[in-house]
Amino acid sequence: MTEQHEVYDVTIIGGGPVGLFTAFYSGMREMKTKIIEYLPFLGGKVPYFYPEKVIRDIGGIASISGEKLTDQLIEQAMTFNPTVVLGEQCLHVEKLHDGTFILTSDNGAKHYTRTIIVATGFGTLKSTKLELPNASQFEEKSLNYTIKRLESYRGKRVLLSGGGNSAVDWANELESVADQVTLVYRKKAFSGIESNITKMKNSSVDVKTPYFVDSLVGDGGQISSAFVKNLQTNEVEELEIDALIVNHGFEIDLGPIADWGMDMEGGTIKVNGEMATSIPGMFAVGDIANYQHKLQLIAGGFNEGPIAVNSAKLHIHPEEELSHLFSTTYDFSE
Ligand SMILES: Cc1cc2nc3c(=O)[nH]c(=O)nc-3n(C[C@H](O)[C@H](O)[C@H](O)COP(=O)(O)OP(=O)(O)OC[C@H]3O[C@@H](n4cnc5c(N)ncnc54)[C@H](O)[C@@H]3O)c2cc1C
Repeated sequence: MTEQHEVYDVTIIGGGPVGLFTAFYSGMREMKTKIIEYLPFLGGKVPYFYPEKVIRDIGGIASISGEKLTDQLIEQAMTFNPTVVLGEQCLHVEKLHDGTFILTSDNGAKHYTRTIIVATGFGTLKSTKLELPNASQFEEKSLNYTIKRLESYRGKRVLLSGGGNSAVDWANELESVADQVTLVYRKKAFSGIESNITKMKNSSVDVKTPYFVDSLVGDGGQISSAFVKNLQTNEVEELEIDALIVNHGFEIDLGPIADWGMDMEGGTIKVNGEMATSIPGMFAVGDIANYQHKLQLIAGGFNEGPIAVNSAKLHIHPEEELSHLFSTTYDFSE
């Protein structure tokens, strides 16, 4: 459990790209800042879904990989040493008489804060798990739910389970680095982009439909064999593999935040021009924030963060005039 009763000026729920930039700006405004992130790592959807894809729609950055952007955002966010709490899902909030909020996480940890900036995206990202009794012993070792680094599969025998667009996309990408790629899918017909499906079918990827992973054998976290079963014939086949990637979709769960009392619309939080929600002291930025003509783009969130931070500062010090601050006029030397 994290330390209690230390009151922060700003607590940012969600350490995605927008939460990270918001934390940087909050530090620059000399606000005592905390980030709480459900995942065991920072960066949100970017490292989760597309670390190796190239992002080209952030002003001034012609092209950058998801991983590189995440690294730079983390470096920037750490400039003013915010407190970072990983692996906790914020579930509940309570407002005390003096206006202080208490946030409670899924592990019971309590976080005291004067203002809250919700930067949760659409909620926590949870991959649909492989339902086999011994699957968990291989997770993050030889069984993964996302591909963090294509290179780590070089020369390996890889089994992919799934038939959506990402699974097909990964099969095509792995084909050039892995020694052997097999893909099993429960259904006969794939969903997703036709050209990708055709490319996979014309490649060396061994496509097996309608098949599913029936059992796994291995030791010390390393899978040695997967037994795959044909749904039509019930025939079982043993595949000797080094790695299994499961892409059975994911759930996005906003959890009880939707019931905190903020005005909501279609799973997003309504905000005004100050990024303020309907609860005084609570702000929202990034994908979760909803206003007219909202664009769910990283670059858009980079504008919303500073607005929310300035509004939070004004909420804490209503007597102060809202002054504008450029990083070029800020002294970073201390
Ligand atoms: C495949 C794909 C490609 C994309 N390509 C681009 C692109 O090229 N350019 C672009 O601008 N945008 C792109 N996007 C959209 C972009 O990723 C999002 O707009 C951006 O990630 C939003 O950032 P965020 O910080 O608001 O939310 P997220 O990135 O979703 O981060 C939110 C974080 O909050 C955490 N969280 C949620 N609930 C809680 C809780 N209760 N407690 C603690 N933590 C919580 C989550 O675990 C998550 O890490 C793409 C999206 C996808 C899926």
